Order: sequence, then structure tokens, then C-alpha cells
Amino acid sequence: MTQQFSFKLKATDGKARTGVISTPRGEVRTPAFMPVGTAATVKAMMPESVRATGADILLGNTYHLMLRPTAERIDRLGGLHKFMNWDRPILTDSGGFQVMSLAGLRKLTEKGVTFKSHIDGSKHELTPERSMEIQRLLGSDIVMCFDECPALPANRDRIAESMRLSMRWAERSRDAFGDRPGHALFGIMQGGLEQDLREESAEALKSIGFEGYAVGGLAVGEGQEAMFDCLDYAPDSLPMDKPRYLMGVGKPDDIVGAVARGIDMMDCVLPSRSGRTGQVFTRYGVVNIKNARHADDPRPLDENCSCPACANYSRAYLHHVFRANEMISGMLLTWHNLHYFQEIMQGMRDAIAEGTFDAWQAAFHAQRAQGDIEPL
Ligand SMILES: [Zn+2]
Repeated sequence: MTQQFSFKLKATDGKARTGVISTPRGEVRTPAFMPVGTAATVKAMMPESVRATGADILLGNTYHLMLRPTAERIDRLGGLHKFMNWDRPILTDSGGFQVMSLAGLRKLTEKGVTFKSHIDGSKHELTPERSMEIQRLLGSDIVMCFDECPALPANRDRIAESMRLSMRWAERSRDAFGDRPGHALFGIMQGGLEQDLREESAEALKSIGFEGYAVGGLAVGEGQEAMFDCLDYAPDSLPMDKPRYLMGVGKPDDIVGAVARGIDMMDCVLPSRSGRTGQVFTRYGVVNIKNARHADDPRPLDENCSCPACANYSRAYLHHVFRANEMISGMLLTWHNLHYFQEIMQGMRDAIAEGTFDAWQAAFHAQRAQGDIEPL
């Protein structure tokens, strides 16, 4: 018997929600943070280590994987889960956003996008149909509709035109996805920062019908205040009983603010990318490990953190291996950052379930405002 994809809302507190997404590959507790495994790896982490941080689901990038090693090769080798040794749920993006941000020389038509690979300049085409095919070859559990995300700043006409194209592509994505029990297709709401366009987009998506809904086109440089303004209304026009995914977010306080506004899922490269550049997220704010103040400091990054970087190593060691450009630096700092992000998610899930999310948020902001421990 094939288990179906489903979402069960367990509790709400204000607009914040906690629930469980069930898939044949396991459950995803929401609110969920998805580490990004761009090229079939969360950089500097073994899959079992990613799981140990508390992640239930990973994100994979269609654009990167279609170019190298190609979706067809991954399919021949048994699919993305087997290829990268992660047997839990995987969500893949559609490739649309990354074509716009990474590929050279693009041509956009009603049919789709043709572009040149940033790796070797070779020519490729992505359409709703091809994006669905690639995500099926990868074996993705949650597939995203192929959409267009206009570069900002853009005027209202351009945003409206782009949103309506994305809605036509959403319908083609739904048709091309077909009947795949146990797998989900998520629609993506567009419309920039225009409330009526967001609502038009939500209506179009709901009339097509999806297993989940994403809020796209945010976290593209508009700033937190503008993003929160949009999230004050955008999730309200999406169905209550389906997961809501905010794409590409974000910093810890972005994540908390999004959950407070009714978002269930997020992804961001920030914890892993920052881990490689010496930027550490802690409950007391951001720590730059390259800073000379850590050179003689025998204390852990965060004495209350149970991750391997904090349990077994001093700030002095982490500072040294970062300065010496040792690989363990990126490994330990990425582990800590992912652990901290997952700890935030667990804290929010528990607080929403207990009806204490306001108090949890107040404590979260108070600790961050406190700042890092004093230098020795
Ligand atoms: Zn830690």
C-alpha cells in the first residue's frame, strides 16, 4: 500500500501553527527548517550529521543537479535519496529562481526559459514540463511548480505580468506532474509586495489545487519590514489545511517572524554558508569566530548548546582552525549553525503546542538583544 502525502495541523497559537507532514519517506514536523543540499550534499556535513541536528527534510536544487551530474544520471543511479544517502523526505525547487539568478544569457517566452549553464556555457531549456520531469527523475517527495520570479526592483505591471505567467505555468506544472501517490506538488504564490496581486495569485492556485502552497518572490532584497508586511496578509489567503512554505528564508529572526505570521516551512543556505565563512548564530546573536578576541578563549561558543562544536571545542580552537583554513572549521561551525536553527524550530513547535508562543518569542528576542558573552 502506498502511503499518501498528508498534512495534519496539531495546534495553533495566534497565527502560528504546528503540525506534521506525512510522506512515505517519513514525517516532517512543522514549523520545519530545511537545510539546503544544493549539489546533492549539505556542504561540510554527512547526511547522518544533518539528521542528528534535527532536520526532517532537505532541499535540493533542480538547476544545479540538472547541469551536473544531470537528472538522468541520478535516475540511472537509483534517484537522489540513494545517490546522496539521505532516505528521508527531499523537496526540490523548480529551477526557475536559480536560472534567473545564476545562469548567463536567458531568454524568457510563454513556453519557458532557455539559458546558458554557468558551469560550461552549454545551452539548456527549462519549461514547466521539463522541470516536472527533472524533479520526477530526481525522486523528489515535494515538487515545486515552475515559476518566474522577476528581478527587483520591478514595476507593478511587470510584477502582474510575471505573476500571471507563473499562474499559467502552475497549471501546466499540475498537468505535467500527473498522478503520483505519495508525492506532492506545491504551487507558488507570486505578486511582489502588492496585496491584490498576491490575492489574485492565491485564488488562481487554489482553483488549480495543490498539496501545499509556497509564498515566493520574498527574501529577494526587499528587507525584513517589507517582507513581514506582506506576510501579515499573504498566508491568510492560502488554505488553512495545507502546508505553507516561505522560500529562501532566512535569518533566525526572519524565521521566527514568519512562523508568527502562519508559515510552516522554510529553507535557507545561511546556516551552512555562514559556517564556512566563520559566522556563527547563537542564542545571544551573531559571533564572528575570526575575531582576535577568541584566540585565547577556552570557553565554548555557547555553553548551553549540545552540538559537537560546543560540547568538545573551545572558541580558541575554532578560531585557530578557521584562521588556518582547516576543513574541520567549516564542518564544526556548519554543524553548530544547523543545530541552532533546528533548536529554534523545536522551541517554536513546543511553544505553539503549549500555547506559549508569545512568551517564547519574547525570550528569544531578549536573549539575542543581550549579545555575545563578554571577552575574557
Ligand atoms: Zn553549538
